[in-house]
Amino acid sequence: MPRGQFDKILSETAASMGVDVQHEMAVKDIKFHGTDSITTVVNKEGVEEQIGAKFIVDASGYGRVIPRMFGLDKPSNFDPRKTHFTHFKDLKRPEGIDGNRITVVVHQQRTWIWIIPFSNGITSVGFVADPQFFKDYPEDAVERMRGIINSDVHTKERFGDAEMVFEPRTIEGYAISTKQLYGDGFVLCGNATEFLDPVFSSGVTFAMESGNKAAKLVIETLKGNTVDWQKDYTDYMMQGINTFRSYVSGWYEGDLHEIFFSENPDPEIKKQICSVLAGYVWDLENPFVKKHERALKSLANVIRLNKQKSVSNFFCY
Ligand SMILES: Cc1cc2nc3c(=O)[nH]c(=O)nc-3n(C[C@H](O)[C@H](O)[C@H](O)COP(=O)(O)OP(=O)(O)OC[C@H]3O[C@@H](n4cnc5c(N)ncnc54)[C@H](O)[C@@H]3O)c2cc1C
Repeated sequence: MPRGQFDKILSETAASMGVDVQHEMAVKDIKFHGTDSITTVVNKEGVEEQIGAKFIVDASGYGRVIPRMFGLDKPSNFDPRKTHFTHFKDLKRPEGIDGNRITVVVHQQRTWIWIIPFSNGITSVGFVADPQFFKDYPEDAVERMRGIINSDVHTKERFGDAEMVFEPRTIEGYAISTKQLYGDGFVLCGNATEFLDPVFSSGVTFAMESGNKAAKLVIETLKGNTVDWQKDYTDYMMQGINTFRSYVSGWYEGDLHEIFFSENPDPEIKKQICSVLAGYVWDLENPFVKKHERALKSLANVIRLNKQKSVSNFFCY
């Protein structure tokens, strides 16, 4: 679904439950006094206001308010990548179920395209690649998008002459991490913690899960109950984040391509891997969650070995 619509539902639902929601207000400063804090916000007319809080849940996404203000940012261990994306009026969308599918096109080994159809007939299309990939295309955002679209047979056919809804945008070096997920009087949620990669769309899963988890723990803390933030928040969230991290690495290093495009996949293994990619990254009964890194690498190696064997058998005959 379109992101604006999703955010509006969340914000209106929170407001209907008694939350004071204010728009177009930016956090400018936070001062902690023990676990209590005073936050200075400013509206678009430049008027400042101060808000006292017993606990702050920082869900500021790429704004990364607390990590930036208190030096908690940590570089990601992923190579920097770049994305160029827009929304198209999707007049050539396939009929039936195929038209509703999210498609990931492998353009080249480390370059891929997302095609995400929305219910309103608009489709999000984005290219993700190493930054040097884009150097072969024009600087102008629209020309660049047309050039890349036309370089790929799948996207050219469907979007070659489609109308763009907004001028394509570029985001670069978006993978980022943080030194800690909580501290005295605050907790970080969603992208304010760590953002891995747009592949497999894990961002909203983590934003929802961390927000939900943090809210419950904050309530316990404010009731005066003892909360083990390390175990119940950081360790829990990192279990999910690290599982997805193995899949993102496996995607760019080629292990996942080996697995996805293997012939006659084992149906049970396929189910287990699909479950991970659907967001069940806390299901420790699934071996592809429990031993995520090793399981993926081993499976890819077995597939490679089998391929070599069948090639050598072919030459023996
Ligand atoms: C190119 C790209 C494509 C993606 N595609 C998908 C996808 O298809 N599916 C998916 O699940 N995820 C996707 N993601 C990831 C997803 O967008 C994020 O993971 C998700 O939005 C994180 O939610 P959040 O609530 O943490 O932060 P955000 O959604 O970024 O919300 C942060 C909010 O904080 C506000 N804010 C920031 N700074 C301040 C400040 N100083 N004062 C006040 N307010 C502030 C912002 O205005 C914003 O409203 C994609 C990400 C990228 C980069």
